[in-house]
Amino acid sequence: SNFEDLGINSKLAKYLNEKLHYSEPTVIQKYSIPNLIKKNNNFKNDLFIKSQTGSGKTLAFLLPIFNNLMILKNQINRDSGLFAIILTPTRELALQIHAVLDRLSKISVNIVSTFVIGGEKKKSEKARLRKGINILIATPGRLLDHIKSTKNLDLGSLKYLVLDEGDKLMELGFEQTLTEIIQNIEEQTKNNENSAELLNLYPELPNRRVTILCSATL
Ligand code: AMP
Repeated sequence: SNFEDLGINSKLAKYLNEKLHYSEPTVIQKYSIPNLIKKNNNFKNDLFIKSQTGSGKTLAFLLPIFNNLMILKNQINRDSGLFAIILTPTRELALQIHAVLDRLSKISVNIVSTFVIGGEKKKSEKARLRKGINILIATPGRLLDHIKSTKNLDLGSLKYLVLDEGDKLMELGFEQTLTEIIQNIEEQTKNNENSAELLNLYPELPNRRVTILCSATL
């Protein structure tokens, strides 16, 4: 099957084929994409992707998320809200994922992404967050820092939470930090007065948060 057969919109599928020269989805992408595209019958609210590096796992979660934001009838922009957070165990991985997302953004420039990672200047990160972001890539400690110290990170509209390299996140001792992040997300999405409005604006998006766990081991 090709990307379009899996539910990816034709513009994105064409870009993958012609510009990035990905002629066919990898095995893990064939599994994940239909499971994360809502119009499919087998749409799942949570997904475990058992993935080795090199299997195409980054696009396995990025493509369906990006596709779902791209096809909204009411086109989003940077002020529409934060729809996806991707948590990674290392800064390097966060930067790699952001580079992939950057390439996808060429065909849908209204979708804005950035990263917040340990070791960077917090002040410039805050400025980037304040401008409005739709997809955020982060290391856990730094994300929690921003959640606690800034009013600029509204989690109330979040639809996708990706835990990339979940096994490594645990190995590195991020369990407590992740728990706190998820508690904050749950509080904010629960208390979100705009959630009904969000559903009206973007009926194509899932009505509750989808969590995607990637890990090489169970
Ligand atoms: P990852 O497992 O996400 O680290 O990806 C490993 C490599 O596979 C990266 O260099 C990707 O650019 C490449 N890749 C991802 N999806 C595909 C695809 N469908 N066809 C060919 N290469 C791909």
